[in-house]
Amino acid sequence: MGDNYNPYNEVLEIVRQAADLLGYAPKEYEAIKYPERELKVSVPVEMDDGSVRVFEGFRIQHSTSRGPAKGGIRYHEGVNQDEVKALAAWMTFKAAVVGIPYGGGKGGVVVDPAKLSERELRCLTRRFTAMISPIIGPDQDIPAPDVGTNAKVMGWMMDTYSMLKGHCVPGVVTGKPLEIGGALGRKDATGRGVMFTALNVLEVLRMGRGEATVAVQGFGNVGETTARLLHQAGIKVIAVSDVSGGLYKQEGLDIPDICRYITTGENRLLKDYRADGVVHISNRELLGLDVTILIPAALENQINKDNADEVKARIVLEAANGPTTNEADKILFKKNIVVIPDILANAGGVIVSYFEWVQNIQEVMWSEEKINRKLEEIMGNAFLSVWDTATGRKISPRMAAYLIAVKRVVEAKKIRGIWP
Ligand code: NAD
Repeated sequence: MGDNYNPYNEVLEIVRQAADLLGYAPKEYEAIKYPERELKVSVPVEMDDGSVRVFEGFRIQHSTSRGPAKGGIRYHEGVNQDEVKALAAWMTFKAAVVGIPYGGGKGGVVVDPAKLSERELRCLTRRFTAMISPIIGPDQDIPAPDVGTNAKVMGWMMDTYSMLKGHCVPGVVTGKPLEIGGALGRKDATGRGVMFTALNVLEVLRMGRGEATVAVQGFGNVGETTARLLHQAGIKVIAVSDVSGGLYKQEGLDIPDICRYITTGENRLLKDYRADGVVHISNRELLGLDVTILIPAALENQINKDNADEVKARIVLEAANGPTTNEADKILFKKNIVVIPDILANAGGVIVSYFEWVQNIQEVMWSEEKINRKLEEIMGNAFLSVWDTATGRKISPRMAAYLIAVKRVVEAKKIRGIWP
């Protein structure tokens, strides 16, 4: 992931800048520079060929000042402790900026899930869940899906935790299948939130939907949903990509057809998709397209000092966590490109996870219409407060989002005090 790139240092730097701007003395925010708790586990799995492989896993709680830790579980070969620390901290500030009562946590296992059989994946998930079970729970820390995990994995986690407790505990994870307490609309929630934010930013910049063009990097849970919902909202999506490369058509891609292609069949890649007028491009080319909105929805460190100068989009909307490095951010700011930060843009997932958890612990069910309406309301209010802060103080939307979030976390910590 790039030479000296350390995502946790990136978070620390932005938190320091925000705390300075807020006028906090170092002692007031010293504690939030460190994760509260880090658990590293070695997860043995008996593979289909009879051998035993041991996978490295993590669950890290950055903060529980504003509520239980909350954040996804990532299955990816590139997972490492600093990445999980950064992802956990981003969750703390994400929950704070949208005003939901959670802290931040994250987990991960160093594995390429596509290389495991379903049985191996299930055994890995169950053993990993058992090993992190002392620190998770509906009142402590609530995992959810992230890169490489999905509703099925959450179902296994919920069952494993429930078996250990001896009773059903649906509120231990969110993003579960509907049949076992999942929320309607959760699967699409992050992408739906990105779509709402895209419409909000076009509106404040007085740009018409009809003329806007979009490129989306990453075509998984978040990227696919974002492209599909923007297309439905009448916005032309001219490029999409996944790990295998990208597709481009200036007149607009047939997004429903690409979604059908990707979802019918296992492990399908965009490089094998063919249609009239569709040109195959690289991920780097996609990031440099002349579009209204560029939406990175894959991984961290995609827009960095090596390619930030090539970005021609008017708006960068961060659906992924940490896709733009701090150095790249400065370059984009100088180029007058509006960057809507991850902790705001992709908060739809954690917001609907919160709704799912509330339903689980209260044993109630909400309609999809109610969930989507409340999601739109929370995303819209958070967007406006970030936008007003940014324009009022002449700072980037990222710094504005961190001003709001860091203040909420620091103040919560101050009110609680340092025990003993
Ligand atoms: P996913 O595993 O469903 O999809 C990831 C996609 O990115 C895949 O299409 C993959 O092929 C592509 N990809 C991987 N490496 C790539 C590369 N180098 N270049 C281009 N594409 C690449 O994951 P997801 O759940 O959609 O998560 C994507 C991003 O959104 C992550 O940063 C994640 O942390 C963030 N996020 C996810 C959620 C959620 O609810 N799932 C919520 C908030 C933020």
